[in-house]
Amino acid sequence: MNWKTDLRASDLDADMRLELTCRLCGAVRSLPAEAILARRGGAMLYLDQVEARARCRQRGCNGPMRLALLRTGDASGFVGGIA
Ligand SMILES: [Zn+2]
Repeated sequence: MNWKTDLRASDLDADMRLELTCRLCGAVRSLPAEAILARRGGAMLYLDQVEARARCRQRGCNGPMRLALLRTGDASGFVGGIA
């Protein structure tokens, strides 16, 4: 068990952002919680189901995606040293 099997799309807070990374080509795309909730039955999906259904959108790739959960609240407090 982990957060992906514990959390449903409807449990996500507004300051949470999901990010999908392709396991094959490394392409990253963000997945707003609203995008999941907008689908029919999307609010009932556990995040591991969301991950299992996600496929890379890069042309010709269609690889499986790894799901990460980001808190935008934390990111806003981060002062980067990478200039
Ligand atoms: Zn890919």
